[in-house]
Amino acid sequence: MRGVIMHAPGDVRVEQRPDPVLEEPTDAIIRVTATCVCGSDLWPYRGTDDVDRHPMGHEYIGIVDQIGDDVKSVAIGDFVVGSFVASDNTCEICEAGFQSRCTHQVMMGGIGTQAEKARIPLADGTLVKVPGTPTEEQTKSLLAASDVLGTGWFAADAAAVGPGKTVAVVGDGAVGLMGILAAKQMGAERIIAMSRHADRQALAKQFGATDIVEERGEEGIARIKELTNGYGAHSTIEAVGTQESMQQAIGATRPGGHVGFVGVAHGVELDGTDLFVATVNLLGGPAPVRRFLPELIELIMTDQINPGAVFDLTLPLEEAAEAYKAMDERRATKVMLTL
Ligand SMILES: [Zn+2]
Repeated sequence: MRGVIMHAPGDVRVEQRPDPVLEEPTDAIIRVTATCVCGSDLWPYRGTDDVDRHPMGHEYIGIVDQIGDDVKSVAIGDFVVGSFVASDNTCEICEAGFQSRCTHQVMMGGIGTQAEKARIPLADGTLVKVPGTPTEEQTKSLLAASDVLGTGWFAADAAAVGPGKTVAVVGDGAVGLMGILAAKQMGAERIIAMSRHADRQALAKQFGATDIVEERGEEGIARIKELTNGYGAHSTIEAVGTQESMQQAIGATRPGGHVGFVGVAHGVELDGTDLFVATVNLLGGPAPVRRFLPELIELIMTDQINPGAVFDLTLPLEEAAEAYKAMDERRATKVMLTL
């Protein structure tokens, strides 16, 4: 099969890879119908994370092609969505809604779904069948559900977004934008997007942002306080993962408020005294997308949300190198790869 391999930072190639095979009776093999490039794929692309001939991709939708003997909940031919972490969905961590930290978790990024086919471990726990036949728009949205939408949704949930709340969103990449969509869907009264890029600001407003703050750091925090009678936001979504973005998120949140942080942390070190004084609730980590998938699929298939609008470029898998380049150069927010 054809699949994406990152040879080194900046060096993405589509090559022949071995077809996946069923390794465990709980595995399924899917024929990937669409996949995409994640903001987190840019960490190795930019050389922040080490990379050496690594298969890429962890977002996917597709059609079940083969199933192991123990797979019961999906059948060959089913159209399915799964999360970027394979999970059994039965252990105590999964039952509590934290499938991304399942005791049997398998990171799909290690398998690489930017490919024609993918092995899905723990298929019964990981995959969710989509009812009916999705339209082209719904297909894009289902792919978004596989990671960015589910991650933005978790961030909003972790930040205790709800009716009447003021929400600040740090980060205007795809996850931040999906956090805005989630906050709107959860009934937030005011959603402040922290963004200094005109194209992202327009998307943020399209997804439900009511205010834009261009300032960053201490100035950004001061501006959020100004907009909230000096209190700070009730709920803050952090979708970047840097020292500055974490400090900005915690600083923008009022005492007693909640921060949902989902940007993959790179070099974040929090000062204990600052954290102590902040008096905020912190919950974050790799998003348990699987918890939200049934609800998200329902919202998408009934056209109540259109997260697929976050994809502003679609390319064939063979042009994956250009997809990475477009995202790296910020010419695209999120690129869908079709097969
Ligand atoms: Zn589990």
